[in-house]
Amino acid sequence: MKTFFLATLLSLSLVATATAQTEEQKKLDAHPVVALTFDDLPVAGNLPPGMNRTKVATELVAKLKAAHMEGTYAFVIGSKIAGDPDAEQAMRIWLDAGMNIGSHTWTHPSLREVTTAEYIDELEKNEAPLAQYGQLHDWRWFRYPYLDEGETAAKYDAVRQWLFAHHYRVAEVTLDFEDWAWNNAYGRCLAKNDAASLQWLHDSYLDNAKEFVRLGREEERLAFGHEIPNVLLLHATAFTTHMLPELIAQLQGEGFHFAALAEVESDPAYAQTPAKTEDYNGTMPDLFMDARHLPYPKFTPQPKEKLESICK
Ligand SMILES: [Zn+2]
Repeated sequence: MKTFFLATLLSLSLVATATAQTEEQKKLDAHPVVALTFDDLPVAGNLPPGMNRTKVATELVAKLKAAHMEGTYAFVIGSKIAGDPDAEQAMRIWLDAGMNIGSHTWTHPSLREVTTAEYIDELEKNEAPLAQYGQLHDWRWFRYPYLDEGETAAKYDAVRQWLFAHHYRVAEVTLDFEDWAWNNAYGRCLAKNDAASLQWLHDSYLDNAKEFVRLGREEERLAFGHEIPNVLLLHATAFTTHMLPELIAQLQGEGFHFAALAEVESDPAYAQTPAKTEDYNGTMPDLFMDARHLPYPKFTPQPKEKLESICK
């Protein structure tokens, strides 16, 4: 979701009634499917007091294995590994636990901030650590940093052509609630031992996840005519690791079943590309909606101001 869209959408959506929203929710599929994916391995967000990357990775793989999610993909920023023994250990723990890795570029640039040639250089440079750590794995999957696929059709096409010529698949995203936005506040509130604020972080994280999962599914119905198997974007942060069992339970409560990324992306929707547009930024349903100039459903945005200021 593009941030600058939010204010406009909110003002437009005030006319929608609560009844309409309930009707929308009734139309959601009873048996949705989702693959969980994790960005920014091995260094995602700040660390809370007493944590390191090894501990986060150890806890994250334990929770994924407890949910029978071996084979889960994390997308790696290669420049964060070499020379950091803690990050190197986190990588080994992830892979030794039977998880998968894909590319997230060498230094995590936004495509619109660099040239196509610079971006492709980032992709090429990231192949050495992927091959080193993921030698027995299918690591030719790519997740665009910031879900930025370029500010022009020419850049969008050029990067995709490089990816497909080098046998990569794009790890698309259909569901994104910006889980990363809670992590640094979590570290600050833990440091202050502020139980009330920690409870608010917990509750607002789950509420926000619920809201944006609903939004993504409604966007799919608008963009594709029906819901499609989902890919949920998460980050390998301390807070998402902490919250993971409850997030999984909430998704199960909403009827979700879990599947592997390749299985989800075997759905025909993932073979489609959006019509040419002036900006490629957001989830896959966002791109299809933008290309057709479809208005977004109403939604409650993330509490970004409070997340920035809490426990400071
Ligand atoms: Zn990222």
